[in-house]
Amino acid sequence: MFCIGELNIAKRPEVRLKISQAVKGVPKTPEHCEALRQAQIKSQAERSGNAWKGDDAGYRAKHLWVEKKLGKPNFCEVCRNGKLRSRQYTWANISHEYKRDTNDWIRLCVKCHMAYDRNRLVLPLK
Ligand SMILES: [Zn+2]
Repeated sequence: MFCIGELNIAKRPEVRLKISQAVKGVPKTPEHCEALRQAQIKSQAERSGNAWKGDDAGYRAKHLWVEKKLGKPNFCEVCRNGKLRSRQYTWANISHEYKRDTNDWIRLCVKCHMAYDRNRLVLPLK
């Protein structure tokens, strides 16, 4: 089996050609195989949403809590836009402490929510 680490130190053109042929072919170092495997696992996790595992459960539960209390948001309290599709409005937490307090939540459209998450949005005083 080729060891890419060793091949990479080769400087001669004919060796380089061999390397490019070898790299294009299937033989790979165990490290390479492992890296590919990890990349595959990662992309699979991202596709299935597993990348959000952990924190997400609590995050979602809290958002569901607000939705239950105040309903689904259907307009944006910042830009006052009410013309988007309902799924483009979200509840955003003002204090970032996710309090079980309805005053701690604000309806935002996806655009304002993104700005808010980047601390680029000044919320209107309630
Ligand atoms: Zn907005």
